[in-house]
Formats: sequence, structure tokens, C-alpha cells
Amino acid sequence: MARLASNLGFPRMGAQRELKRALERHWRGDATQEELLAGAAELRRRHWALQRDAGIELIPSNDFSLYDHVLDTSVWLGALPERYRTAERGIDLAGYFAAARGGRLDDTPIAALEMTKWFDTNYHYIVPELAVDQHFELTSLIGASAPKPLAEFAEAAAAGVHTRPVLLGPVSFLLLSKLYGADDGRADGLTLLGRVLPVYRELIAALADAGAESVQLDEPMLATDLDDEARDAYAGAYDSLRSAAPSLHLVLTSYFGPLRDNLTLAASLPVDRLHLDLVEGPDQLDEVLGVIPDSMALSLGLVDGRNVWRSDLVEKLTLARRVVDALGADRVLIAPSCSLLHLPVDLETEGPAGDHLGIDDEVRQWLAFAVQRLDELAVISTALELGDDAIAEQLNASSSAAAARRASVRVHDPAVARRLEAGGPELEQRLSPYAARREAHRARHALPVLPTTTIGSFPQTPEIRKARAANRRGELGDAEYHELLEGWITDVIRRQEEIGLDVLVHGEFERNDMVEYFGEHLDGVVVSTNGWVQSYGSRCVKPPIIFGDIARPAPMTVEWATYAQSLTDRPVKGMLTGPVTILKWSFVRDDQPRSVTCRQIALAIRDEVGDLEKAGIGVIQIDEPALREGLPLNEADRKEYLDWAVAAFRLASSGVADDVSIHTHMCYGEFSDVIEAIAAFDADAISIETARSNMELLDEFASYEYPNEIGPGVWDIHSPRIPDTEEMVQLLESAMRVLPADRVWVNPDCGLKTRGWVETEASLRHLVEAARQVRASL
Ligand code: GLN
Ligand code: ZN
Repeated sequence: MARLASNLGFPRMGAQRELKRALERHWRGDATQEELLAGAAELRRRHWALQRDAGIELIPSNDFSLYDHVLDTSVWLGALPERYRTAERGIDLAGYFAAARGGRLDDTPIAALEMTKWFDTNYHYIVPELAVDQHFELTSLIGASAPKPLAEFAEAAAAGVHTRPVLLGPVSFLLLSKLYGADDGRADGLTLLGRVLPVYRELIAALADAGAESVQLDEPMLATDLDDEARDAYAGAYDSLRSAAPSLHLVLTSYFGPLRDNLTLAASLPVDRLHLDLVEGPDQLDEVLGVIPDSMALSLGLVDGRNVWRSDLVEKLTLARRVVDALGADRVLIAPSCSLLHLPVDLETEGPAGDHLGIDDEVRQWLAFAVQRLDELAVISTALELGDDAIAEQLNASSSAAAARRASVRVHDPAVARRLEAGGPELEQRLSPYAARREAHRARHALPVLPTTTIGSFPQTPEIRKARAANRRGELGDAEYHELLEGWITDVIRRQEEIGLDVLVHGEFERNDMVEYFGEHLDGVVVSTNGWVQSYGSRCVKPPIIFGDIARPAPMTVEWATYAQSLTDRPVKGMLTGPVTILKWSFVRDDQPRSVTCRQIALAIRDEVGDLEKAGIGVIQIDEPALREGLPLNEADRKEYLDWAVAAFRLASSGVADDVSIHTHMCYGEFSDVIEAIAAFDADAISIETARSNMELLDEFASYEYPNEIGPGVWDIHSPRIPDTEEMVQLLESAMRVLPADRVWVNPDCGLKTRGWVETEASLRHLVEAARQVRASL
């Protein structure tokens, strides 16, 4: 057993996404609650055993969730809103899933709680909805033996594994919550601290009674900018928790960034161990060593919990030894930077590399997924205890993999480097300002005022998914597959003409995912066969792995756009994913700044834009839905990010003549932090998600006096509901109260790939009719 090795959390889904399948079977009604729970318990047992067998000394429990750990926290705190409870006011599994994903409860339709991104990751959590007079009370789901953290601790113990329960800490929980019912309409979750602490106290005391030796309190908010109120809350909260269970080791965990201004605060809290993310914040170590009290141990977040690069053990050991020398080995633990939730499970389950898909042998030796991270933790801690000789073989392998990666010609493409150097800001500038471009667009395409369009994708029917999968497996030949694609494109063009849309799209049927597709077609990127990471609930994504300099060996989308354009006289919009979004939704290389990688992607997209232009495409949309979520957690880092993100978009989009209209699209509103950057994109038009918020999101654009064209979404495509014409007329009219009519587009909120054809056709007809009516009233 590697005495110092500690883990903070393990992926929940299972190496073959067993949890996803079990959940979806249960939701479809094909598996009972008992079957689901038994499957989940089996996964937990397997993951505990796996960690133990890997030599991890401190193994987490309660890191598992059937949906989301923040929702679980709301449940054990007894803070799920009344409407999700049963008649007896308890919470059962149906109520839990209703809160998570909406649906029907007691035969009435019920909406889910709000969901949003977990810090700057692509994991989503369920936002706790609390009342100003919220009551909290230690709670078990109906049918469970105990509140979840206790139940899972006991379950692990029964399986022979002593674990460290993981809790989302009280201050982060409250700061991540939304508080309703305050007089002025807004109040801060922290006002509930006094109410929530007794429940935390009761729980940790019960955990201590049950035999827990330590508890991990996750406080990732410590990596963000905090005001004085929040800092005071930390001091008060941890004093209170400390006294609740004096013998229990409290491990305070922060991650996703350095502690910065909160470092002294964190080191002053009465906890036994402080966990540091030394991957995102390696530079904080000296300062920490300077302030850490003698009573406190350090958990070193040495190996990356959210990126896939194999650790360079020599480098990690050097860092760890510095701390061991300063504090002594008994005050050091070796851990991943954050929970391994954000990594695929096991590199060993990767299939062989195929045509577009799979990790080839060269790249594979540079990678580590969650299971490989456990091995790294064990190896590092063994070396600290027994010396390097004990791990000579692993050290060698790690060093030669690191050297191979540094030297690989697939990582370093001199042509890309030369091109990057050659192109400066002059490439980031359209030929003429927007006003002149607009005249050129009008001369090229005669569009009505309030032109109608869609965001790009059309329903991906089971037939389409099946054919695409068969083609990937090599069971459906390329020629037949292409014929099928042409058939679907023909069909979708006919339908759009018939519906009466003005600017058409080819439907994106060839794409599994808006980032993965481009990952498969770019050099310097591999797409795994099984590298799934939980995004929300049962939904997983497979982020491409950007390992080297990016180049575009051949056009990626031109064939489909030109085929679509050949079928119609109306303009067809070329559809691309932007450089910031490709970067954000991939695993990115750690050997050069993200800004450089982003610029390389931008050059590849620029080439694609140029080829679309040459092929006669006059409207090109470059989606950047991830711009906002890429925003750094700390204010101090934001300007730099936005500067290079804007430059990358402009580099990708500016190489065209004035008469090409560049569109962009963003979803998940909240534009206040990025509105200036969006304006600086200088896209000719932007479509955004506004229907659900009743056009509220538009205020930001109106008060900023956004200078170019805007397509405020008038149909919330996230629900199967078909909005009627009148509703869309009203949304449009309220948009036009703040936007000039001659710069408004009419479109849905987002792409339609998850919708069915029935609601798509009906809603789009209403949308076109709404545009006509409003046009007529002008
Ligand atoms: N063009 C993409 C689509 O229509 C955009 C998706 C997105 O914004 N996430 O599916
Ligand atoms: Zn969207």
C-alpha cells in the first residue's frame, strides 16, 4: 500500500458507461428502481476495489452520484423544493429525477431545476433552489438506509474498504445556490449559513461515529475571487465544523486554480489538511509553505485530474520532495489536482485506431486516464517512501514517454509554426467595416427584412445515426454512406424551401458532434473510441485530444455545403465550429499556451472558410457557444483570455471578401461578461438563445448598442413543445422594441439535431409565419 496516495473522486459512469445505460433503461421504464440501484452499487464496489488494488490509501466515498453531487447535497440537506416531494413530504427517486431532468411527477408535468456549468469544466450541476427561510434537515431518500454520505460510507465498509467521505463544503454549496423570495428579489445564499451548518455538523458527527477517520470538504469556490462576506463565512463555517467532530480529520479541498488571495484564509482555517491544485497553480507552493501552520498537512494535487497527459514522474517527484523536505513525509499526501470525474475511465479500454477514430500507439503512450492516474499516485508515493530504486522501471518509462512526446514530428509541424509566425493582426481584419459589408451582402442576396434561418443542424433520426455508426465501423461503405447523406441533404433542402425559410442549411447529418467532427478531420488531434466523460446526468461527451500542431489536410465541410447549394437558388449557409469552442471542448496540449493552440485551430478554420467562399458559399456561420464558459474563474485573467479568443475568431473569419456574410452562434445566454468581446468578433450576424428568458438576454445587446445583426432565438428548442405563431410574434415584437428592424434575423434558439421532425416542421412553419406577420406590420 502506498501510504501517501490519496484520491479525491472517481468517474461514476463506469468504463463502458454502465451507469448511463442503467439510468436510461430505468427512465424508459425498462428497469426497475431496484435494478438501477443494484447496478449503481455494483459500480461503486468495483471502483472502490479498483482504487484499493491500485494502492490508493485514501479512497473517496460519496463521490458517486446517480445524477449530480450538488443535487445530492440538496437532498441530504433536505433542501429540495416542495414540488419535488411526495405527499408525505419525503423525497423519492422519482422526485430526485424530476428535479434533475423534469418530466412528470404524480402525472403532472414538472420542470427540472436549473442546470449550469461546474466552474470552468464541461460538467453541469443542478443549481440548488433555496428559499430565504429555507429549512434544512439531514435527510435520506425514501427507501435508503441513511443519508447518502453515511449510507455509502457504510456500504464501502461492508465491502471491506475504509473510505473518506466527500462532501461539497457548506460555503461553496451556498455560493452555488440561488436564493428565492427575498424582498428585493435578490439575496445571497450565504445568509443561510447559520441554518445549514447544524446539518453539516450533525452529518460529520455521525460520520465520525460510524468510524470515518477523515472527511473531504470540497470548497472549489476558494479558487475564485471572494468578497469579505464570503471569507468571513469560511472562517465561521470551519470553526463550527471543527467543533462538531474534534477527532475527525478535516481535509479542505480547493481545485481548478490557485488559492491566490484566499491562500492566507485557507491556511488559517481549523482543518487538518489543505489540498492544493498544483497543476493549475504550481506557483503557489512557496507561499503556502511559508504560511502553513505546523498543525496542518498538505495534500499535493500533483497529477492532472482534468487533462489526459501522462505525468512526467521525475518532475512530479522533484516537486513532491521539496514539500517532504520542508514539512516531513507525515505531513504530505499525493493526490490528483481535482476529482478524476473529468477524465475518461481507462486507457486500456481504448479500441485500436481506425480510419478517423481511435488513439494510435504513438499518442497512446503519452496519455493517462483515471485508472492510469491512480497508478501514477501510487508510484509517486512509493518513490517518496522507498526511494527511486523501488520504481526504476516506471520512472524510465515515464521519462522516455515524455522525451518521445517532446521530440515527435507529429507534435511539432514546422509548417504550422512558420505560418503562425507569418500572420499578424492584419489577418484579423475584414476588408471593410460592417456598414460597407452590409451593402455588399444586400447586393449579393436579395433577402427580406427579418430574414429567417436556422442554427444549422436538423433532426438526427435513428436512421441517420445508425448509418453513420455503421460507416465508422466499416460496415457501410463510403460510397453508399455518401449517397445516403446526399439523400438527406436533398430532403432537408426541399423541406426548408417548402417551409419558406430564407437562408438554408445542409443539416449537419455527417456530424456526430460539432467538435468531434472537426477533431476527426484535423491533423494534431485524435478522437478516442471510448474516452467518455460525464457532461450531465447520463450524458457523456468524448472530447477530442489535441496533442500536436494543428493542420487541415483537406477541406472538411465544403463537399456537403456545395452539394446543398447546388440544389437551391436560396443561399445555403456553410456551418463551422469556431476555434475557441473546438479548444474548450477538447483535451488540450499542456506543452504550449492555449492561446497558441487556439490560433492554430483558427488558421485551419480560416482555410475552410476560404474554401467555402471559393466554392460559392455566401453565408458562413462559425459557432462559438463555448466563448462564455471559457472565461477564467478569476477576474484578473479574463482580459487576456478574451483578447486571444477574439483574435482567434477574427483570424478564422476575416479572410473573405466583403460580400460573404459571417455569422456566429452562441447558446446558454448571460452575455454581460462577454458582450464587448462578442462585438469585437465583428461577425456580420450573431444568433443567440433568448426564447426561454423571454428576450431578457437581449437587454445586454440593446444597452451595449450592438452594432451588427442579431438573431434572437424565438423558439426554445430544448423542449418538444411547439410554440404557436402568436407567441413567436410577441417575442419578435419585444425584441424589436430594443433592436432596429433592419438588423434582426428570425431563428430558433439553437440547432435542431435533438428534435423530431414533427415539432421541427410545425415550429418552423410558425416561425416563418411569425416573421411574415411582423414584416407586414412594419
Ligand atoms: N450549428 C450547431 C447546431 O446547429 C450549433 C450547436 C450549438 O450551438 N451547440 O447543432
Ligand atoms: Zn446553440
